[in-house]
Amino acid sequence: MRQSLTDPYGRTFSYIRLSITDRCNFKCHYCLPNGYQCTPGQEKHLELEEIKRLINGLDDLGVTKIRITGGEPTLRPDFLKIAEYIASKPHIKTVALTTNGFRLKQRIQSYYDAGINHLNVSIDSLDPATFTAVTQMRGLEGIFEGLAMALELPFSHVKINTVLLRGINDQSLNEFTEWIKHRPISLRFIELMRAADNKEYFEAHHVHASNVKNQLLEQGWSIKPREKNAGPAVELTHPSYEGRIGFIAPYSKDFCSTCNRLRITSRGELRLCLFGNENHSLRPHLQKDEDKDQLIAKIHKLLNIKERSHHLQEGKYGITKHFASIGG
Ligand code: SAM
Ligand code: SF4
Repeated sequence: MRQSLTDPYGRTFSYIRLSITDRCNFKCHYCLPNGYQCTPGQEKHLELEEIKRLINGLDDLGVTKIRITGGEPTLRPDFLKIAEYIASKPHIKTVALTTNGFRLKQRIQSYYDAGINHLNVSIDSLDPATFTAVTQMRGLEGIFEGLAMALELPFSHVKINTVLLRGINDQSLNEFTEWIKHRPISLRFIELMRAADNKEYFEAHHVHASNVKNQLLEQGWSIKPREKNAGPAVELTHPSYEGRIGFIAPYSKDFCSTCNRLRITSRGELRLCLFGNENHSLRPHLQKDEDKDQLIAKIHKLLNIKERSHHLQEGKYGITKHFASIGG
């Protein structure tokens, strides 16, 4: 029987961010400035069979949306098989992918064919030189070509994630709005978040999302009314623009009251909050199909200890070393 996942504060969790690897080929300065480093002796990533058991449990728990993330999820050789398996579950209506856009042009059709219906591509600058300065990778033009192809396919959402970075892209608002004027893209500005490894970068480049949001409101953009069960993003629209602009601003007041998501790491650990202090291993319950009831009971039990709010305002950002380790 289908259940639903709720916590003591009345929030329902129908959305899972599932990391399938912490490896990445980009070196974004705020995330992995020195590139991916393999930690000797570290546990292996979940195998495909373990992921399938996890998805079966989540399907029974009322989950309707799974986002595949990483590291760079598309680097995993069985990435399309994972997407196909999620898409095969009748209750999981949204199969989302967050990618850095690597080889997007060559692969976009295969993502769509595997059943992915929401696509998020991370692009912090529309200028190739700035893009390369942030990611330490070339290839923005290929990502643009891949995006143009994505817009021709019937994805239900094509979104761009842009981390707001002082001195890098915070003066480029007009370029971003012009770019979405005739493109049905949701541009998501994400406030730079603190992790253990990015103290100096954070201090140099953090911008409050409200600064940018206020500029848009002055230019005639308006805040879209919140849909029921929508997550913490605030969305703005403008009658002259085909695209929309959203904000993920975790440092803003009340961000947590609309929380609808849980995170699972590539090693099968449940993280109740992105800024939490603990991972809870689900892996022991992913070894046999018969363990599904135990898996479900464990997740229900853990929801009872989910906190009402993060403690970012007190400078406590939790155990995340960098976002590649949890999937953002
Ligand atoms: N590699 C994929 C990508 O970049 O889209 C997926 C994983 S990445 C960790 C997911 C999202 O987290 C990206 O949009 C990235 O820009 C964002 N991100 C990474 N580190 C962040 C930070 N410190 N603060 C805010 N967003 C961050
Ligand atoms: Fe890789 Fe994504 Fe982190 Fe950039 S943000 S280093 S693409 S995991």
